[in-house]
Amino acid sequence: MSFSEELNGLMDCPTPLVRRFMALLEPVDDARLEAMAQESRRLTRLHFGRTIRLFAPIYLSNECINNCKYCGFSRDNPIIRTTLTVDEVVQEARYLHGLGLRSILLVAGEHPKFVSDGYMQE
Ligand code: SF4
Repeated sequence: MSFSEELNGLMDCPTPLVRRFMALLEPVDDARLEAMAQESRRLTRLHFGRTIRLFAPIYLSNECINNCKYCGFSRDNPIIRTTLTVDEVVQEARYLHGLGLRSILLVAGEHPKFVSDGYMQE
């Protein structure tokens, strides 16, 4: 099932977590917005402390079967599609490590060539 199908399915029968998330997207008055901001701040400090953590992205692939309007990887966006090989990913990671970066964010679209038990299906 694709990401968009999964997402649409969530709306058919939303779980309590999804209902809570939907409630967060509803318009609220200033007092409620401030309360949400305070709660967000409290939870951020609780889980992460007073830190800023930087992630360096490695773009594994910009191939995607979905068509999210806000995304440059969208299926109908006429761009050159690229998927890194495992060796290229390792090379990129080593380069970032050499720069002193220790937190890497792996970025990719959703495509059938990617499988859950490995990077790419041959
Ligand atoms: S990569 Fe972009 S188009 Fe593909 S699922 Fe993610 S947000 Fe949507």
